[in-house]
Amino acid sequence: MSSQIVDRFGRPHSYLRISLTDRCNLRCFYCMPEDGIELMEKPSIMTLEEIIGIAKSFNDLGVDTIRLTGGEPLIRKNFEYLIQELANLGVTLKLTTNGILLDRFLDLFDSIGLRKINISLDTLDKAKSVFITKRDYYDRIMNNIQSASDRNFHIKLNVVLIKGVNEAEINDFIALTKDQNIDIKFIEFMPFKGNKWDWSKGVSQEEIRSTVGQKFGEVLPLDNPKHSTSVNFKVAGHQGTFGIVSTITNPFCSDCNRIRLTADGKMKNCLFANSETDLLTSFRAGNDIRDLILNSIQSKKYSRDGMELKMDSDHYENNRSMTSIGG
Ligand code: SAM
Ligand code: SF4
Repeated sequence: MSSQIVDRFGRPHSYLRISLTDRCNLRCFYCMPEDGIELMEKPSIMTLEEIIGIAKSFNDLGVDTIRLTGGEPLIRKNFEYLIQELANLGVTLKLTTNGILLDRFLDLFDSIGLRKINISLDTLDKAKSVFITKRDYYDRIMNNIQSASDRNFHIKLNVVLIKGVNEAEINDFIALTKDQNIDIKFIEFMPFKGNKWDWSKGVSQEEIRSTVGQKFGEVLPLDNPKHSTSVNFKVAGHQGTFGIVSTITNPFCSDCNRIRLTADGKMKNCLFANSETDLLTSFRAGNDIRDLILNSIQSKKYSRDGMELKMDSDHYENNRSMTSIGG
């Protein structure tokens, strides 16, 4: 069934990213503002039953893929129950995690058929990891990545590149793809409330490609799956691949099929959307929320919530921080 959630530009939306919590066990500086965030009050956060009910309304309208994210999704209490119930909806489930608690859930993921996991890992250097995340979990994360890989989970590593921090590691990440079927997703640094974004610190799609080409020679472009947010490549002879999410230098909005739901039950029709639709209040009042969803998608702008030509601080400083949107 194709999705009924179609915007003014004819784009059907079939992919929902649900933030399970705004809490996190890391403090990545590009995501979490230095002074922390004002955490959501517990009663304003969707209960597990509410998440399942709201997800069902999206599914009724044709959403067939749900990614669980956060904050850190694996710290959500009774995560096991939630993911099993979501699996029962028959949707394709995906997960983005920082990997700290991954070992506790691998059996469960096996049993529900969740085989692809995105793990955020910005550096292969322990000291740098402590600098970026403000916490010391590097060894645990690396062990968990190894365990998941040994059990043949398909791992994608999300790497946000920032000049002066980790841009010199681009080719170290690519080296991991030589003998392992692992995918690297380089992400251009994006602006959100309080993250002191400045594009002079960003590393562009072009720079990444040429850095890899200079070291490894032939870089083969791959077919990009429909709705892909990354342009994908492979170094000739390598088992794994790499992709680049070029939200800043080459946005992929024309084919966007994504919707976001924050942990407090607000629908965002774009990652950069400042306006939100409160689904939770209506759901709690016992209403059918499907019209709210359909109406919200009608106000979706073509690209980056109207920041088509450049990122505008008056705009993104009025958005949430990434940790409370759900990346
Ligand atoms: N805690 C989980 C994790 O880190 O994977 C899930 C939530 S996190 C917000 C989701 C993704 O957003 C991560 O891969 C993270 O690197 C990315 N992200 C956060 N802030 C970003 C920024 N300013 N620019 C680009 N990507 C960002
Ligand atoms: Fe937490 Fe993920 Fe944000 Fe890092 S990127 S602070 S792990 S939510």
